[in-house]
Amino acid sequence: MTVRNPPARTREPAPADVGAAWRAARGVMPAGHLDAAGCNVPSDRVLDAVVAQLRRERERGGYTAVPDLADGRAALAALVDAAPADVAFLESGTAAMAALLGGWRLAPGSRVGHARTEYGGTVMLLRRLAARNGWHLLDLPVDGDGRIAPEALHPDLDLVVVSHIGSHSGVVQPAGEIGALCRASGIPLVLDVCQSLGHVDVSGTRATAYVGTSRKWLAGPRGVGFLVVPGPTPAMDAATPTLGGHHWADAAPAADGVIPVPGAARYETSEGAIAARAGLGVAAREHHALGPHAVHAHLAGLGRLARGLLDGAGGWRVAEPLDEPSALVTLRPPPGDTPVRAAARAAEASLLVSVVPHARAPLHLRGPVLRVSPPPGTPEETFHRLARVLAAS
Ligand SMILES: *Cc1c(COP(=O)(O)O)cnc(C)c1O
Repeated sequence: MTVRNPPARTREPAPADVGAAWRAARGVMPAGHLDAAGCNVPSDRVLDAVVAQLRRERERGGYTAVPDLADGRAALAALVDAAPADVAFLESGTAAMAALLGGWRLAPGSRVGHARTEYGGTVMLLRRLAARNGWHLLDLPVDGDGRIAPEALHPDLDLVVVSHIGSHSGVVQPAGEIGALCRASGIPLVLDVCQSLGHVDVSGTRATAYVGTSRKWLAGPRGVGFLVVPGPTPAMDAATPTLGGHHWADAAPAADGVIPVPGAARYETSEGAIAARAGLGVAAREHHALGPHAVHAHLAGLGRLARGLLDGAGGWRVAEPLDEPSALVTLRPPPGDTPVRAAARAAEASLLVSVVPHARAPLHLRGPVLRVSPPPGTPEETFHRLARVLAAS
């Protein structure tokens, strides 16, 4: 017998094992949980790490029980080819985006590009900053699915802000191509990875900054967001100076005498949910242990399965392409039903789905949609149950 193509030596488990490993790491896996994109299910070890840190803070004093977050920073940074010192912890993805964009010194008249698919909170932030600072906001062209056409990217933009995956649609933006084009034109790129880190591959994008959050696909605790900034440019500083991230200087370079410390630390808040940051570190390491590529493949498979089973059920239609490689599935209602009513029926059947309101992507969504976002390990049966709920309006 000849052995052809011996299996590649890899430390990652096969995609089929991801679901079992994910469930095994959670003593209690809520059945019917289909809201990973809203708030995922943290593992037992993540919860233990949070509680253990809270206990240490009580026993030793909060300022004495300082956790070592180095491994967590390294695990997050590795997902985007960055270094541990490039990671700054904040309180949410929104807070991280506000710190990043709010402090960016772009001259009046600067041109900031974003797509109409952009996250509602970021659109509001950009509008406010544009009005206050005299920036011009420019549309990045998108196709019928809301996918950015990288080749149409205007070469003389001063900043580009892109959500890799939106909150309201499972379309995965071509971040690699956008990153390459931005680099070629010298345009800084902010990539919002709140819905993509832990879900799809983000490596190789080489963005100027990444904005992330803990509780979604990384399955960390609530109350933590983060930035990864592999080398802030001189124009980049936090919106608000902090004692930990800034120091005084008597003269130039800063007119106000407030100088940011080197690297991403200028963005990090020193007070915050420190226990939750420790928990996120554990979650990020668990993601590496599962194997990021195996998790991505597993989630893409769940998304395809869900879309195939749900599209057409009771007249509901999947909004993104059926084979989009993500596990964020959105559905538009048929006449006579609504996402709010369907979500309520799902809840009665012990299925947790979410309603995405228009405001989540105000320039793209025409009305609310139902969002189905299975965590790894979701059994096929759950989608059959949801299909029956959708059909029973
Ligand atoms: C959730 C989300 C955010 C904001 O993150 P929070 O932690 O909720 O503040 C930003 N962008 C996208 C695409 C999101 O899905």
